[in-house]
Amino acid sequence: MKLFSIFGNPVSHSRSPLMHNSVFKNLNYPACYTRTHLEDGTKLKETFFALNLSGANVTVPHKEAAFNACDEVRGFAKTIGVVNTLINENGKLIGYNTDADGFMYAIEEFKTINKILILGAGGTAKALAARFKQESIKVSVINRSKGRLPFFDDLGCQTYIWDTFELSHYDLVVNTTSAGLKDEELPAPKELLLSILKNTNFVADAIYGKITPFLQLANDNNITYKDGADMLLGQGVLANELFVQSTLRKDDIKREMAQSFLL
Ligand code: NDP
Repeated sequence: MKLFSIFGNPVSHSRSPLMHNSVFKNLNYPACYTRTHLEDGTKLKETFFALNLSGANVTVPHKEAAFNACDEVRGFAKTIGVVNTLINENGKLIGYNTDADGFMYAIEEFKTINKILILGAGGTAKALAARFKQESIKVSVINRSKGRLPFFDDLGCQTYIWDTFELSHYDLVVNTTSAGLKDEELPAPKELLLSILKNTNFVADAIYGKITPFLQLANDNNITYKDGADMLLGQGVLANELFVQSTLRKDDIKREMAQSFLL
């Protein structure tokens, strides 16, 4: 029996155990998926091997620490320095990122997106910004502090902190901050958000399982919005494919994971 886990802080809200266990159980794959609350990201690697895991997911705030913990990083994760999926390959820790493609899946329904504003500059923002750039989408980033913005400057994004923001029109505004995850905070001052919301077609939040204060504000202003559930599904399917090393069909994984959202 293989064992998988999600690492995070907080981690109790995570639906990943239910999603992956539904796949394992219903498709008869001999594995179990648990959750691990981790305070210190530098302890990720030793905890992973102490638990004898075959693989793991990593959530807020440890995705950059996960990148640093890896013996080898593959694919898109290398470009962004952010890892959300770990695989134990013969005692070596291999890192991947499935968040960005998961989010691309989630916004397919919005059709043509040419200009995006990202709220936040953490691991998720990095993954999305780099992926949007690959699609030649114009990307702006606004964060409450300056420290993490140089990565986005180097990518060719417009970057702002709250005080320097210059209003423009966006097809999509996406909240990648953790404001609203375990509190009822907005990701930026309300007046600033209201002016942004008046100038966007769609809104998305990476947070799932609740209407965040940001999504509530979008709703109050009659803007079409979606939460992070489809992103969660998209990244989860891709992570599960890595866990089972392509021994299960992607359509079956997706069906079982989507079903688990109804439980
Ligand atoms: P990080 O810790 O890497 O980054 C968090 C970002 O949020 C930073 O830019 C930080 O700003 C900002 N921030 C935190 N608190 C506040 C606040 N109160 N007001 C304004 N800004 C704030 O987190 P991740 O990128 O890993 O995750 C971000 C969110 O995305 C989480 O809520 C996570 O659950 C969600 N997520 C959902 C996924 C899904 O599948 N649906 C997948 C991945 C993530 P600063 O730089 O100033 O500290």
